[in-house]
Amino acid sequence: MPELPEVEALAGYLRERAVGRRVDRVEVAAISALKTYEPAPAAVSGRTVTDARRYGKFLAVVLGDDLHLVVHLARAGWLHYRESFPSGGPLRPGKGPIALRVRLDDGSGFDLTEAGTQKKLAAYLVTDPAAVPGVAKLGPDALAAGLATFAGRLRSRRGQVKGVLTDQTVLAGVGNAYSDEILHAARLSPFALSDRLTDEQVAALHEATGRVLGDAVSRSLGQKAAELKGEKRSGLTVHARTGLPCPICGDTVREVSFADSSLQYCPTCQTGGKPLADRRLSRLVR
Ligand SMILES: [Zn+2]
Repeated sequence: MPELPEVEALAGYLRERAVGRRVDRVEVAAISALKTYEPAPAAVSGRTVTDARRYGKFLAVVLGDDLHLVVHLARAGWLHYRESFPSGGPLRPGKGPIALRVRLDDGSGFDLTEAGTQKKLAAYLVTDPAAVPGVAKLGPDALAAGLATFAGRLRSRRGQVKGVLTDQTVLAGVGNAYSDEILHAARLSPFALSDRLTDEQVAALHEATGRVLGDAVSRSLGQKAAELKGEKRSGLTVHARTGLPCPICGDTVREVSFADSSLQYCPTCQTGGKPLADRRLSRLVR
């Protein structure tokens, strides 16, 4: 799932490539992906792309003064910038991976795509980004939050720190992959309770959040949109690396189920050398 650094890079790419271009038209191939019907997609035609922004994990393309195409890429969504499109008529609604196509006046443009059968990508055409429910509920941006804000938000919720850190209403932008990386960098157990962290632990977590996200953003910026996903993988130390050695201590990276997915961590770096019990598994055994 694209998280803060990838969405930031996509916004950066659009600012560089699309700002100043006029929109020819928007074609909607997956009707269910577009969550709004007023204004209609036709309202976008003739508008100039004036900016591209990020709200947490949401990407927003600003059209003229007051129209925003806000997108949540969900688990398997992506934005593909095209220098040109194959000739032929407009996209036909169907079962392909393309949900939405935006054609610009120089023949370039971008496709919002989603792989797999589970279609969760959501696009909104709104005059105010806050009209998107997910955007309105976002907590402060994880990368921009100072220590006091970060600490206050984290302690406002009681729960396992992995879950609190990925709750978009607490802090915006961190998902499954970067929370594994941040907790590893801060040497914290993903199951530590957020309201019981010491000041030192919170400070370490804040520092790790800024460093991990900041490094990922700088690795991603300047990359072509198509190469961003590969770059994310190359920068990871524990996430999606089950069974591989921890680059810090050499211990084996472990995996445990969490929520509807799984998390990865290093026992030596994060849990005093003890592997975490897999709750789902132990419930079955019991
Ligand atoms: Zn380690």
